[in-house]
Amino acid sequence: MNVQQCRPELRVEQIQYFPEQRCPLCAAPASTDKRGNWYVSYTDFFGSALRNWETYIGYVFFTCHCDHKPGPGMRVARVGDALIPLHFSDRERARSVGLDHDVMNAHEVAQAVDFLVKNADPMCTAQHDELRCMLFEVASGKVGPDQAHHRIQSWVFDAAAQGQET
Ligand SMILES: [Zn+2]
Repeated sequence: MNVQQCRPELRVEQIQYFPEQRCPLCAAPASTDKRGNWYVSYTDFFGSALRNWETYIGYVFFTCHCDHKPGPGMRVARVGDALIPLHFSDRERARSVGLDHDVMNAHEVAQAVDFLVKNADPMCTAQHDELRCMLFEVASGKVGPDQAHHRIQSWVFDAAAQGQET
């Protein structure tokens, strides 16, 4: 199974920065929801796999009437102030590759977050250290658990060796 194949390509030109984001379809400027929020964080009320990604999922709004998903706000992945539209596969698609729907969507968040960390302005994502970045790679499927374990071990050994020198 290759989850990468069934999602729209993430592209660098889709990256935007809060609060300067514009509608990706018509370039209309940002707006607020009915309560006056420029950004609404995702809250997982269902105890799904997405609860682990709440910090990185939210919704932005525009002055236009384009058809944003899921609507009226557009779902985005967010790291610092860097944003990218976040497209979720539907339930049928998840079933066809043998994944629970929420697990597949969590995987899609992981890929978007990993993409932002690698491609967005580092000033916006700088608070993410090497370990966290590697965990994004693990979650997105780019790095396997053994490789991650190996890398963490080498960091620990390096740190211990440095401790002995001083
Ligand atoms: Zn628009």
